[in-house]
Amino acid sequence: MKSSVRAILRASAGLFVAATLVGGLAVAPASARSIHSQAEFDKTRNSTTKASSAWVVVNKQNPLSPKSYVPKDLVSVPVDYVYAPKLRKAASAAVVKMFKAYKKATGKKMQAQSAYRSYSSQKSVYNGWVDKLGQKKADLTSARPGYSEHQTGLAIDISAKPANCTLKACFAKTSQGKWLAKNAWKYGFILRYPKYKTGTTGYEFEPWHYRYVGKGLAKEMRSTKTKTLEDFFETGKAPTY
Ligand SMILES: [Zn+2]
Repeated sequence: MKSSVRAILRASAGLFVAATLVGGLAVAPASARSIHSQAEFDKTRNSTTKASSAWVVVNKQNPLSPKSYVPKDLVSVPVDYVYAPKLRKAASAAVVKMFKAYKKATGKKMQAQSAYRSYSSQKSVYNGWVDKLGQKKADLTSARPGYSEHQTGLAIDISAKPANCTLKACFAKTSQGKWLAKNAWKYGFILRYPKYKTGTTGYEFEPWHYRYVGKGLAKEMRSTKTKTLEDFFETGKAPTY
């Protein structure tokens, strides 16, 4: 009996603190007040420079630190694939949910094309593109090792199953590409390299490349119509190395 009374007291103390905080917001100066009734989105809640942060901004101006970074919680992603995918735990769970939701909504399938890539596998992917296209063009489509979002374990290239417009701009016009553009935010993903943003991200339009940032940030970027992490966190444009 006594312990349950204590629990009730603790619970009401919690409510009192919550009420005080809400009250505090209500009397905040106009400049600090949100037009919404909820508290403003806290952009400093997670690091944008720490390699293991879900909000890390990786681009041609901001390599991973260290460049040889390997995520600690990589898991195999249990979905259809072209190359067996690994991602960090939270990103993997979100991909599984997203692929299931697509199948449920359309009766069609999508698959993982490529997900986590280590420093050394990124090195061979990048060198392959350089051999094929030359360095200048390769830099618009593939990251140098240590500069790739794929090395964070939070990025995935998605393709249609059966394959259709794989890693091509026309993927945007496929059923899978259209659904992802509309719905990926619900699962915590953003389209990382949007159209007309090459001057900011350093990459051409990649309708297949999705980056896990968590539901809160994905939702906030959508509702503020902010297309890139660089613009959202004001980290500066990163068109070149
Ligand atoms: Zn990619």
